[in-house]
Amino acid sequence: MLGMMMNTPLLVSSILRHAANYHADREVVSQTVEGHIHRYTYADLSKRSQKLANALQKMGLQQGDRVGTLAWNGYRHLELYYGVSGSGLVCHTINPRLFQDQIGYIIEHAGDSVLFADLSFMPILEALAEQLSKLKAVVIMTDEEHMPKSDLLPNLKCYETLIAAESDHFDWPVFDENTASGLCYTSGTTGNPKGVLYSHRSTILHAFALSLPDALCLSASDTITPIVPMFHVNAWGLPYAALMVGAKLVLPGPKLDGASLHTLFENEGVTMTAGVPTVWLGLLDWMQANGKTFSSLQRLVIGGSSAPPVMITRFQKLGVKVRHAWGMTETSPVGLAAALLPQHESLPENEKLKLLAKQGRPLFGVEFRVDGDDGQPIARDGKMFGAMMVRGPWIASAYFNNQDSSAHTKDGWFNTGDVVTIDKDGFIQIVDRTKDVVKSGGEWISSIELENIAQAHPAIKEAAVVAKPDERWGERPVLVVQLQDDATFTKQDMIDLFTEQVSKWSIPDELIVVDELPHTATGKLLKTAIRKLIQEDLDKLATQNKVV
Ligand code: AMP
Repeated sequence: MLGMMMNTPLLVSSILRHAANYHADREVVSQTVEGHIHRYTYADLSKRSQKLANALQKMGLQQGDRVGTLAWNGYRHLELYYGVSGSGLVCHTINPRLFQDQIGYIIEHAGDSVLFADLSFMPILEALAEQLSKLKAVVIMTDEEHMPKSDLLPNLKCYETLIAAESDHFDWPVFDENTASGLCYTSGTTGNPKGVLYSHRSTILHAFALSLPDALCLSASDTITPIVPMFHVNAWGLPYAALMVGAKLVLPGPKLDGASLHTLFENEGVTMTAGVPTVWLGLLDWMQANGKTFSSLQRLVIGGSSAPPVMITRFQKLGVKVRHAWGMTETSPVGLAAALLPQHESLPENEKLKLLAKQGRPLFGVEFRVDGDDGQPIARDGKMFGAMMVRGPWIASAYFNNQDSSAHTKDGWFNTGDVVTIDKDGFIQIVDRTKDVVKSGGEWISSIELENIAQAHPAIKEAAVVAKPDERWGERPVLVVQLQDDATFTKQDMIDLFTEQVSKWSIPDELIVVDELPHTATGKLLKTAIRKLIQEDLDKLATQNKVV
C-alpha cells in the first residue's frame, strides 16, 4: 500500500519561491568584481532570476542543456544558480583556478552551450577564444559601463543588457525531482577532472541536512558568508540552505585576504561563515598582526582539508565556535560534522578539542562503512585505519559521461579514497588520502597528524608531510614547512617537537624549509607538487648522508 501524501517534486525553484514569499526583505550583499558593494533582497533576486530564465529560453536552450559559469561569489552568480537550474537547465560551475587546459577540457566535456563569466576572467576567455567562439554566447556578468571589448570573442554579450528587457515573471516548470540541476568537476590532482551531476532532489535533501543544528545550524537569525567558492561544490550548499532558512547572505567576491574578509564580516554583521583552512590562516594571521577582534561572528565551519587543532583554539579565543566538517565534490559535499554529544560536555577542554578536531559524525542521509584490508568493517576504537565508503541520496552514483569509475563498487558504495579511524561514538577522523599515507615498515603514518603537530609550532606558518622512498622501510616521512617571517626552525627543533607527541618511528627523517607550499585549485596542499619541489633537496640530503 502506498502512502497517501502529495508527491510534489523537490525542485530548486521551490527554494527561491519560498525565500521570495516568506523572506522577501532579507538582504543579499555582494562585494562585486567591479569594486563596489551591491545590495538587494530575496524579492529582487527572485525577479532577476526570472528575467534571466526568460533570456535563457530566448537563446533557445533546451531542458538538460549545460550553462557554464566562471564566477566568484556574487549576486549574478546566485541568479544563475536559480535561473538556470530553476528552468530545467544544468548550472555548470567551473573552477577558474584550474589550469587553462583543464578549463578548456571541462567546457568541452560538459558540452556547455553558453558560458557566463565574471569580468576578471577575460584573459582566460581570450586564451580559450577559439573553443568558446563555438558556443551560443559568452556572457560577461557586468553592465554596459564595464563591458570589455574583444576582437577574439565575436559572441560576447553583456549580462545586464541580456536580461534588461525581459519580463520578471517566469513560470518555473515542474518536472521530475531526479532531473539534473548542477554539474561540478572534481579538481583531481591526477588524470582529467571528473564531472559530478547533482539533481534537484539531491540538492534539496542536502540543503535540509546541512541546516540542522548538529550540522551547520542555520536559521533566519543568521548572516551567512560562504567563503568557499560557488564554483566549488556549490559553496557547500550554502546558497541553497541560506534561502531555505531565510538567512541574510553576504557574498565576498574575489577578495579573500584577511583585511577584506574582516571588514566585510564587521560591516555586515556576519554570524556564520565557512571555508578552507588556508583562507582562515590568512585571516587569523592578519587579525593577530593588527590586533583585531570579531564583533558579530559566532560560528565558523572548516572543511576541505583537515582543521589543525591550533586553528580551532585560535578562533575559540576570539569567541568563535568552530565546526569541522568533511565532504567531497562527489558527496554534495557534506557528510560529516563534528558536534559534541551531551556526554562530552563535561570533558576537559583538551579532550573536547580532540573530538572537535575530528572530521565528525555522519549526518542522517549518508551511510558510512569503514573497511579494513580484509574488506571487513574495522573496530570502532578510534585507532584502527580503514577505507571510508559512503552511500546515500546526495552521493554521486557515477561520473558524468564517464563509464569507468574504480571508486564505485558493484554493491552500490562510493569509495572516498580517504583512510580513517572511527571511535565508539561514531566520530570519524581522516588519517590521510589513501595515496598520501606514509607506509613505513608495515606501519601507516598519518601525514595529517604530523602536520597538525607541526602547525601548532609558533615558528611554522604552514606544514606538509610527504613520503620519501626508503630502502629499508619502504617509505619515511619528510616534513616540509613554510616558516613565519624571520623565524628559525632546525632539524633538532623538529625532533624535539615530535618526540613528545608521537611514537619514535613516526618522527620525520628530514626537514625541508620552502618559501611557499603549493596548493590545489581548491586550497588543499598539493602533495604531488610538494614532492617535486623537494626532490632536489632530498637528493642533496641523500648524498650528504652517504658521505657521512
Ligand atoms: P574535493 O572533492 O576537491 O572537495 O576533495 C575531497 C577531499 O578533500 C576528501 O576526500 C578529503 O580527502 C579532503 N577533505 C575534505 N574535507 C576534509 C576535512 N575536513 N579534513 C581532511 N580532509 C578533508
